Amino acid sequence: MVYQQKPWLNTYDSRIEEHVSIEHFSLYDFLEDAANRYQNKPAFTFFGKVVSFNETKALTDRLASALHKEGFKKGDRLSIMLPNAPHYIFTLFAVFRLGGIAVQVNPMYVEREIEHVLNDSGSEYIVVLDALYPKVKKAQPKTSLKKIIVVSFGGQKIDLAEGDCYFDAFLNCELNIPDVEINRDEDVALLQYTGGTTGLSKGVMLTHTNLLANFNQVCDFAYKTCEDKPEDFKMITVLPMFHVYGLSSTALCGIREGANQILLPRFDPKEIMEIVKREKPFQMSGVPTMFFALNSSPGLEESGFDDLYYISCGGAPLPVEAAKLFEKRTGAMLLDGYGLSEAAPTVIFNPPFVPRKYGSIGIPVQSTTVRIVQETDDGYIDAPVGEEGELIVQGPQVMKGYWNLPEETAAVLKDGWLFTGDIGKMDEEGYFYILDRKKDMIIASGYNVYPREIEEVLYQLHEIEEVLVVGVPDPYRGETVKAYVKLKPGQMISEEEIKQYGKENLAPYKAPKDVEIREDLPKSTVGKLLRRVLKDQEKMKVKA
Ligand code: AMP
Repeated sequence: MVYQQKPWLNTYDSRIEEHVSIEHFSLYDFLEDAANRYQNKPAFTFFGKVVSFNETKALTDRLASALHKEGFKKGDRLSIMLPNAPHYIFTLFAVFRLGGIAVQVNPMYVEREIEHVLNDSGSEYIVVLDALYPKVKKAQPKTSLKKIIVVSFGGQKIDLAEGDCYFDAFLNCELNIPDVEINRDEDVALLQYTGGTTGLSKGVMLTHTNLLANFNQVCDFAYKTCEDKPEDFKMITVLPMFHVYGLSSTALCGIREGANQILLPRFDPKEIMEIVKREKPFQMSGVPTMFFALNSSPGLEESGFDDLYYISCGGAPLPVEAAKLFEKRTGAMLLDGYGLSEAAPTVIFNPPFVPRKYGSIGIPVQSTTVRIVQETDDGYIDAPVGEEGELIVQGPQVMKGYWNLPEETAAVLKDGWLFTGDIGKMDEEGYFYILDRKKDMIIASGYNVYPREIEEVLYQLHEIEEVLVVGVPDPYRGETVKAYVKLKPGQMISEEEIKQYGKENLAPYKAPKDVEIREDLPKSTVGKLLRRVLKDQEKMKVKA
């Protein structure tokens, strides 16, 4: 049996315990505690306005009272369709306070997707940005939605239909919050929709314990050994909170640590560089495409990223070349981490207290066991050290299941383990590496090819900003390798030259047979490159 042995425990820093402690009874209890601890310190800075921890709790309580008056009760669902803003936090915690379930809705969703999430979750309430109100209103007749609460950041107010109201007006009521008993291990706090790029998305049920455990695991790893955290610690919260990486591993961590979070509704490399220079933040989390964009930006060297204590990257593969280039140009360290919505999300990452290995996603967080398993005819067995297999995970952050989908749940939660669908390996020191998604593997001439490996090689070409490799159907080889490439601004290289580089640096069955340079590659709203969109386009070509 090759279990994760945690060889780093007590080797690198004895302050890190093996098990995470979850001291709060519920998520609201956590917010209340943060307000007691940090009081009038700034919790959020949003377009120059500052909201303190006390104000955050007070506004949360007001909203909870208003929702209670409206009839919202334990187990009810409320959807949130907002960009990053303090209102996101007030709404989440008001729902948690009443024992309700907050439903994450991506603001980029089109009507069909909004309809699916609202119907699937059975949301009767939604808090939405004013610009998105018409889209939601149009979908409403086909959903169970009773009330739309509209957030406006200023500008001209639009007319709302009867029954709907503005967020600020809605808060205008007496404080009156009922006592609600929460079972933190059983009660679902959040529905995180995932996997909807093709087909319809599924709601990942995350309990109070799942979220409490995960941000504590992340913060312990990131901060327990940090000796110089400043009193007025600022962080950049640019990852969207409608994704659990932006919510749990970023915003909730910020609340726990008493940070002043500079909330940004969208990512712009120039703005980030200016903020880093001006505000001197202590922490920032991002996804790889954000760092690709920063790598392509002039002036990165002078921005002062090396003053940040902690810059993390996760959610998608971080190519070694991109990490090295960012580090070379900034003098900062970029720490890769791995997670998935089903694990609230963080499972493995590189804390600052262990030696760094390029290409590795790091080591499992506390109370978390990760195994690498291989399928056999009689079930699955543990892969020997260094050999590849599927990552399976056990820990307090692993979801309760998919909302109303028992069969899909049973397919991934087996024998007490979460089967991630990701292929990886572990080295003799307990560091993990992700090779690829199981379903993204290409079989070319009978060989297994992991797109990630080819992408890593092509990223060595300094002209390339982004690359996505997919398998395309081939009558002789089954599949062949195709690379889609986006070049850095002002850079020139031909498709033929890229193909030639592949030939010189990869085995013949791995080298891309086809290369296509595009202006842009498909990305999710979180900034993840979407391989599946290109795969679907290739499939459509074959059908046509
Ligand atoms: P999501 O549920 O949208 O957060 O997507 C989770 C998936 O993103 C995982 O199952 C992995 O396939 C991928 N992923 C997340 N973090 C990493 C990472 N650091 N390296 C490679 N793939 C990652």
